[in-house]
Amino acid sequence: MREPKLSRLSLSTRAVHGRHLYAFKGPVASPIYQTSTYRFENSRDPMRYAAGDESIYVYTRYHNPTVNEVEDRIALMEDGEAAALFSSGMAAISTTILSVCKVGDEIVSTPALYGGTYRFFRDALPNYGIAVKYVAPTALEDLAYLVTPRTRIVYFETPTNPTLAIVDIEKLVKLTRKAEREFRRPIVIVIDNTFATILNQQPFNFGVDVIVESATKYLGGHADIVGGVVVGKKAFIKKVKGLTKHLGGCADPFAAYLLERSLKTFELRVQRQNENALALAKALEKQARISRALYPGLPSHPQHKLAKRQMSGFGGMVTIDVKGGVKSAARVCDNLRVAVNAMSLGGVETLVSIPAYSSHVNMSAEELAQHGVVPGMVRISVGVEGVEDLISDFRQALNRI
Ligand code: PLP
Repeated sequence: MREPKLSRLSLSTRAVHGRHLYAFKGPVASPIYQTSTYRFENSRDPMRYAAGDESIYVYTRYHNPTVNEVEDRIALMEDGEAAALFSSGMAAISTTILSVCKVGDEIVSTPALYGGTYRFFRDALPNYGIAVKYVAPTALEDLAYLVTPRTRIVYFETPTNPTLAIVDIEKLVKLTRKAEREFRRPIVIVIDNTFATILNQQPFNFGVDVIVESATKYLGGHADIVGGVVVGKKAFIKKVKGLTKHLGGCADPFAAYLLERSLKTFELRVQRQNENALALAKALEKQARISRALYPGLPSHPQHKLAKRQMSGFGGMVTIDVKGGVKSAARVCDNLRVAVNAMSLGGVETLVSIPAYSSHVNMSAEELAQHGVVPGMVRISVGVEGVEDLISDFRQALNRI
């Protein structure tokens, strides 16, 4: 029997088996190479490594078989040529940016970003002579005025955190490629796909160059690891990995092992999270104590049509504006019995957080307004619990404001 083409296999098949189809002999669960370094057969090994032979393992900051297995698995799942795994999403993002930009370069992005990324852009990049210009996620036409011959990266996130605005990726790519042709300089288009995940949104199909993701979230899915991933062309990932040797944000083998385990149930978990989020958003929308329930899958979402066109599922994130501001939002969070009051997202357990005090802390009132964050906002990362339990939990918490 002929082996099927790996890229034609379903997401779950690729996530469960990786490349180990048919004639693979070995363990069903991948072993953990929990080692910092590797024994050489003799001194010819390091010499071969120095001459460029990548089959010789020398040190875990450079490479590790468990980490490499997961990188390969994620690249396969996301339809990318290669992937690099990191110790956190921010390590993946910062290493990617610094592997492209040098002093004098520019990035075009949006203020509607994960707060940590925005603060990296605002507080750290100017120290390296890298400037970031911002466009509203729903006014992409302005990109034409902001891109200059110095622009090296166009960096976006969609759906945005925590406002769940949708960036039109097709339009973004079209406008960027036009500017690229005009200035005759390559621009790397980077999408943070953490919120949507590859199940619900496939950025490479729109011509995006690089996907970055916090693996801490849906890929990991169990609130027990911190990790990040970058997916792109082989040459690009090689460059990113080269800088990782200097910056040191490599993934730990044990975290990589746990991540590989999580990938096997990725599609099951995220499918359930999609279903639960839609049902919860529909129920919350009707609640009198909420002024707005934001979810891309709701017809009331201002960009629902675009979301339907661009996404294959609407994700597990729901954001609500609770009437009465931050005090009421805090009471809701404190009164929940099933959902957990904790930062982060993407895990099997439902989490809630108040963006102004979590992902968007340390920002001025003007910045919060730019990000679309209001004080009474509660961000809900919907888990895989029974959805009726979640709906009644939120109902009772809202009734106790
Ligand atoms: N990107 C998004 C959209 C996030 O929400 C986060 C974290 O919350 C990150 C990146 C950063 O990931 P990490 O916390 O794994 O560094």
